[in-house]
Amino acid sequence: MGSSEYVARPLNRTAKIYVAGHRGLVGSAIWRKLESEGFTNIIGRTSAELDLKDRGAVFEFFASEKPNYVVLAAAKVGGILANNTFPADFLSENMQIQVNTMDAALEHNVERLLFLGSSCIYPKMAPQPLKEEYLLTGQLEPTNDAYAIAKIAGILQIQSIRRQHGKAWISAMPTNLYGPGDNFSPMGSHVMPALIRRYDEAVQNGATTVVNWGSGTPLREFLHVDDMASACLFLLEHYDGPEHVNVGVGSDVTIKELSETVAQAVGYEGSMEWDASKPDGTHRKLMDVSKLTAAGWTAKIGLHEGIQQTVDWFRNNRESFRG
Ligand code: GDP
Repeated sequence: MGSSEYVARPLNRTAKIYVAGHRGLVGSAIWRKLESEGFTNIIGRTSAELDLKDRGAVFEFFASEKPNYVVLAAAKVGGILANNTFPADFLSENMQIQVNTMDAALEHNVERLLFLGSSCIYPKMAPQPLKEEYLLTGQLEPTNDAYAIAKIAGILQIQSIRRQHGKAWISAMPTNLYGPGDNFSPMGSHVMPALIRRYDEAVQNGATTVVNWGSGTPLREFLHVDDMASACLFLLEHYDGPEHVNVGVGSDVTIKELSETVAQAVGYEGSMEWDASKPDGTHRKLMDVSKLTAAGWTAKIGLHEGIQQTVDWFRNNRESFRG
């Protein structure tokens, strides 16, 4: 991180901060983090209260609430099958959410805004680990290209608003996230919640075989959402540059290794099979996190510990989990 991009500028704990998407995996973790750091004026709206695709409603909301800061953690997200099946929805809904929220935030003079994307913005064949500068250097992974294009447009919107309006707005690109509050829907979720639910149900039903998707050979990096929330606040208070910043742990595991770890955490002792008719997606998307670590932030929650904590959360929230 260049020294000119480094700012030690604490956020005002009593200023109004709007967490868009505060019921989601990331938004709810950011909300908890802000509360624990002493923020006293955090606001959120459920999607039933405020549909961020409704441009008029978004402008009315900003006009009446006038937040000082915004964390834009609202998005339509999903696992590989959902992205591959509903690309038009992922592109259109994410574009609308971002454009409406950033336009309204600009009109109402929001001082600092953090936009969140995803590691799928990088070209499928980019060298690993993925550096920020590899953005827009090649073709995207086809299973989630529509979602990725929406997120790339968001990064460009941040950069353009900085250039044209001089706003100290920034973007962060997390790797695959997991943790309490995730979406556990079997068809729509990401791999971690899918495996937790599948293995837990196998234990409950006494099943001796489970079937996972793809070949098990792709590699993925996993960041606990509480670490992500900590990185978000760190960036808001320390980073002021046009380039997005990767957020990850800097190491990855194969999907097969992940499923073995989840099986162990859940107490599943049966066998696992692989359904090759389901897509593998990109082979690897390990983040280069040196830009963030150079500024002084690193992830704290190890994968085993994070998985165990998420399994415990899932088992304690069977009645209320999403999906
Ligand atoms: P991705 O990182 O965008 O590919 O998203 P996912 O988290 O959905 O998938 C990651 C990898 O896990 C892919 O290679 C999937 O094929 C694999 N996988 C194995 N079992 C499952 C499952 O039950 N659900 C999902 N979503 N992925 C699975």
